[in-house]
Amino acid sequence: HPPTAAQTAALQELEAEFAAPQELLCNVVHGLHKSMDAGLMDMHSPRLAMLPSFIVGNATGSEQGRCLALDLGGTNFRVCEVVLKGRHGEYSVRQQKFPIPQSLKTAPAAQLNAFIADGIATFLRDHALQNEDDGNVLSSSPLDLQISPSLGIPVAADAPVVKQVISLGYTFSFPVYQRDLCHGELVQWNKGFNCPGAVGQDVVAQLQLALEARQIHVQVTALLNDTVGALVACSYRYPNTVLGAILGTGSNTAYMEKVARIPKLQTQIKVKRPDLQQRALEQDLEMVVNMEWGGFDNPCAIVPLNRYDQRLDEQSNNQGKQMFEKRISGLYLGELFRLVVVDYIKSHQLFGAYTTVPDNLTIPYALDTSVVSRLVDDDTPNLVHCAQVIKHTLGLNGLTPTDHTVLRRIAAIIAWRSARLAGAGLGAVVLRRRDRLEASSPENPLTIGIDGSLFEHFKTYRTTLLAAMTEIIGQEHMPSIRIALTKDGSGVGAAVAAIMSAEGS
Ligand code: ADP
Repeated sequence: HPPTAAQTAALQELEAEFAAPQELLCNVVHGLHKSMDAGLMDMHSPRLAMLPSFIVGNATGSEQGRCLALDLGGTNFRVCEVVLKGRHGEYSVRQQKFPIPQSLKTAPAAQLNAFIADGIATFLRDHALQNEDDGNVLSSSPLDLQISPSLGIPVAADAPVVKQVISLGYTFSFPVYQRDLCHGELVQWNKGFNCPGAVGQDVVAQLQLALEARQIHVQVTALLNDTVGALVACSYRYPNTVLGAILGTGSNTAYMEKVARIPKLQTQIKVKRPDLQQRALEQDLEMVVNMEWGGFDNPCAIVPLNRYDQRLDEQSNNQGKQMFEKRISGLYLGELFRLVVVDYIKSHQLFGAYTTVPDNLTIPYALDTSVVSRLVDDDTPNLVHCAQVIKHTLGLNGLTPTDHTVLRRIAAIIAWRSARLAGAGLGAVVLRRRDRLEASSPENPLTIGIDGSLFEHFKTYRTTLLAAMTEIIGQEHMPSIRIALTKDGSGVGAAVAAIMSAEGS
């Protein structure tokens, strides 16, 4: 069913607007490298945040112990008890999810923290092992700290035991400015959260206060972002991991950078940990850096801003921000698709049967990105799955088979740009660590841990991303690279970070 001349012309125009030729990918690589340098230099870089995580070195896979992990950053928060078995990637997790009421996302931070502390208490009551002697939860990890409950300060090992305290790795997926591994000031909220009283404050101290008010004997010993968690969890399985990425609701990347190449760290850690700084420089150590790459290209100087990007940005609550993420991530691809379809219906360019936009397509963010992937990944000869999605999810009835192919093509054009930009971005970060790439081999490949539905469930997206990455890195290097789907970054990654911190301190 070939499209009509009008449909072909409209699709060609759309292709041009969402084009991502190799030349653009090269510009993305170059632009990212420059923004990375600027971000590593400047504490409050307007370009890329490049936030040091204070996690030094790769995990080895031999980390062992038991602790709690907390994951906050989306529709739910999750409490887990993680047991790391210390045998290359082996672990077990028990977890409980708590949906976050919409109203709490904009309530004062103290209320959100009270809700989280209550969730931790519920988890401990329902799940964790009880110490027979005093009813407190007992953890057998090297992270068992002995602290004075009134002060919350670690006491010397030979001091009388006051309480058994469980340590917790906190995955907090908002930009945080860290001065050490277990404290961090919130830079800004996103993803629909906007709780007053948190920006500029130490998110760990705030949670700790809520825990102490409830006499919950839990101590946060590592604070990390979900992307950092993905990297660390991946390196627990594959120690030669250099990069962790999220391609889900949002998009972000963390990578291992040489401490010597993080100039702003010198001022940050000189005061608190001169020992760490000295050791890092002497031993050529590496630290995980959270790029916050969603904010790349905020002035839109590199990736052209087409009319749909512009509309999406204007209607967003963070205008001019997260411009890379707005071209890439799951939160936005469904919406870009909706904007294009609505436009095409309104301008009568396509879908002759429709002259007005059906109600369900008039609602912003009505379409999930899984719609895009179900259309694009349909490989049935008569596009049976597409027909179902178009009828039941888009609510468009009576379209011709040609209309179906056109809708599928629109979805593919939008997904294509996203996957190519993400692939170029990953390639750029790998090239940043060319030294580690060259030291890797097919037997010991350089590993990239990726989490998120876009990568996991959208097959065409995955292959397009890999092809773009190959264009950037070069086919000859690909046998030395492994991409690992890394699903439990916020649980296992947080636990590994917490245990690494105990072992390293
Ligand atoms: P999160 O990033 O919120 O932790 P996910 O990794 O599941 O969770 O990502 C959710 C995003 O992925 C949503 O924006 C959703 O639209 C998108 N998504 C869910 N399923 C699919 C799919 N099958 N194909 C493509 N995108 C999907």
